[in-house]
Amino acid sequence: MSRLPKIKHVRAFVVKNDGSGGGADYHDQGDGHWIDDHIATPMAKYPEYRQSRRSFGINVLGTLVVEIEAENGVVGFAVTTGGEPAAYIVEKHLARFLEGRDPSEVEKIWDQMYFSTQYYGRKGLVVNAISGVDLALWDLLGRLRQEPVFAMLGGPVRDELTFYATGARPDKAKELGFIGGKMPLHHGPAEGEEGLRKNLAELEAMRNACGDDFWLMFDCWMALDLNYATRLAHEAHKLGLKWIEEALSPDDYWGYQALKKNAPKGMLVTTGEHEATRWGFRMLLEMECCDIIQPDVGWCGGVTELIKISAMADAKGVLMIPHGSSVYSYHFVVTRHNSPFAEFLMMAPGADEVVPMFHPQLIGEPVPVNGKLKVPDAPGFGVELNRDIALHRPYAR
Ligand SMILES: [Mg+2]
Repeated sequence: MSRLPKIKHVRAFVVKNDGSGGGADYHDQGDGHWIDDHIATPMAKYPEYRQSRRSFGINVLGTLVVEIEAENGVVGFAVTTGGEPAAYIVEKHLARFLEGRDPSEVEKIWDQMYFSTQYYGRKGLVVNAISGVDLALWDLLGRLRQEPVFAMLGGPVRDELTFYATGARPDKAKELGFIGGKMPLHHGPAEGEEGLRKNLAELEAMRNACGDDFWLMFDCWMALDLNYATRLAHEAHKLGLKWIEEALSPDDYWGYQALKKNAPKGMLVTTGEHEATRWGFRMLLEMECCDIIQPDVGWCGGVTELIKISAMADAKGVLMIPHGSSVYSYHFVVTRHNSPFAEFLMMAPGADEVVPMFHPQLIGEPVPVNGKLKVPDAPGFGVELNRDIALHRPYAR
């Protein structure tokens, strides 16, 4: 029988998205940042939305901060995306499944959050909101038990994390000690043969700069069609591309299945950053859509759901390398054999130095040094909320 204090209050805050630096909404950056410089997207077929993802609203939701306070005053929190609409769902709908309850009931709380919203949820924004609550609940549990989340997940299976870097400068990532560099693809099918040649020229330039052994990958952010992705994979294979990431729409399971069959032997097909829940990942796994699944723990259903997703992948012999998400994935990755390395998002505007991924929202956010990181042994996720940032609680109760 748990002797933990009951949950007293759930609160959802938003952080104004004004391009002053993203935090959990890491796409909310100012001009000149590599992450918004002509990245290939499914909206790039419209020339007016091709240059900037902010032009079609990638940063429109902003950051969500969830706080869960126990009766003894201990507060757990988490940050993710989803902004004001997610704050509405947390306060008006999900909070009822937590307040007055024992914080150790993570499975029951998750189940009630998911099935009570299923008629309008299942993926996307609603599961994003559920993820934020679930992460805050794990943080609270860790603080109440005085244990890091990784200890509650079964304990570390290795001493430190090893990282690849995502950003426009794999050559800088190599100098900084990362094991690989994942580049954004800049040109999609609407830019034709010339765009394809430019993509390959950028890869070739980085191959020449980084040498033969450094991992290079393309992140295609759902921008391609099957034919383009197949051609890109075969041409890029000649330049030693390690994997092709999220080439197609996350709804196109059949396309991923075909791409994995079409891809050159030895090249990995990866996806899942915009997939959610055990059921979505079951589709990817059973249809043999990819070699690596990349759930974002802040979007896929939180730690409680990632446990199930990761176990399915493990049984299938598929790696689970979470998308970004900083400390929220580090605590998971260090406990799993089928997560042998982790992603680090280079949030410096030029992708040329290591800065905290969710800067400036978290205090004490650890970053890799020489491409490696020992997950700090502190209660919960081991970070504090930076309260110097203006938090707005739109649906206070
Ligand atoms: Mg990606």
